[in-house]
Amino acid sequence: MSTARFLKARDIAPWLEELGREYTVLAPTRHGDTVVFREFEPERGIELDRLSTTPAKKALLPPCETLFEYATTKTDTPPYRTSIELRPTLPEGKILLFGTRPCDARAMQIFDRVYDGEQVKDPYYTARRNAATIVTLACSGQAGTCFCDRVGGSPVDATGSDVLLTPLKAGYVAEALTEKGMELMRDTAFMKADGLRQEALNVRNRILEEVPERTSFLDMERNLLSLFGDLGFWDKTAESCLSCGACTYLCPTCYCFNITDEPHGDSGKRIRTWDNCMSSQFTLEGSGHNPRPTKAHRMRNRIGHKFSYYPQLHDKTLACVGCGRCISNCPVSFDIRNAVACAIQHAAANAQEHAHD
Ligand code: SF4
Ligand code: SF4
Repeated sequence: MSTARFLKARDIAPWLEELGREYTVLAPTRHGDTVVFREFEPERGIELDRLSTTPAKKALLPPCETLFEYATTKTDTPPYRTSIELRPTLPEGKILLFGTRPCDARAMQIFDRVYDGEQVKDPYYTARRNAATIVTLACSGQAGTCFCDRVGGSPVDATGSDVLLTPLKAGYVAEALTEKGMELMRDTAFMKADGLRQEALNVRNRILEEVPERTSFLDMERNLLSLFGDLGFWDKTAESCLSCGACTYLCPTCYCFNITDEPHGDSGKRIRTWDNCMSSQFTLEGSGHNPRPTKAHRMRNRIGHKFSYYPQLHDKTLACVGCGRCISNCPVSFDIRNAVACAIQHAAANAQEHAHD
């Protein structure tokens, strides 16, 4: 990190308000009893003391967006041709994500491999991603549902961020990690603070020392794959699940979408909306056939995708950042950590049994 500055806590809201002239600013905001990541409004303020219930992903992949509008014109003489005019609605303007947590910033890179990869580039996603500056706040510690340390991250991980903030008394030490971060920190809200760089490092080291030693979920993709045919295991795992989909909508790494057309006479629009693989309708085909007809099939897919299929495609990176939102917001308290740990144990027991056959 090349530049260190100090950002006073009391200067943040006025600074974000000022930045609102140039950027679409999103930040964690209190909403009743919860904290949601949403467009910053000065009168609502920001809430930096706990992880937001909703992740920052909607800034790059909105829950619902119009991809293009279209209008058809028919000739009224033979051979009656129809022509279609398409009007793409590409996003414009700079975006600032302020107060993301290390897990959420890391999650952006999981999206990048899918929407901004070498083979496929989604123009809507890449326009927003290139326009976004991400200012991440290091966590002071882990909540009971956090497990970033078990999936390759940490409470102070800077992966995917442009600026990392480390909390000190009365404010934050800001360290730029990218050109975009350096540009942002040229603002006068950031005071010179090179002497505080070491103090910030000490704080981060103390936070890391408090992370418990726990079994890692890395490098388990083959073990989990071996359970693919064991539907009895997945049936038991998914027993309490209500298929409500809260876990997928609140997950910072879930990126599936659906496409629908909304026609209005000779014109209309094509819309992309978030979709939810825990719903029985997600894979329901027009013929009525459903390749994932039960909760067991869908749970196998959700866990398999995050801990086995995605890592096999993307250099062993898991598609889970351990934020714990799916645990703390599940109506039946389904705990993905227990499910993965059980799956790993079950796969190991199966392997041992086969070795003795
Ligand atoms: S939030 Fe819980 S109950 Fe709802 S789909 Fe996810 S695991 Fe099932
Ligand atoms: S699967 Fe759960 S813990 Fe993992 S990133 Fe998604 S919401 Fe967070």
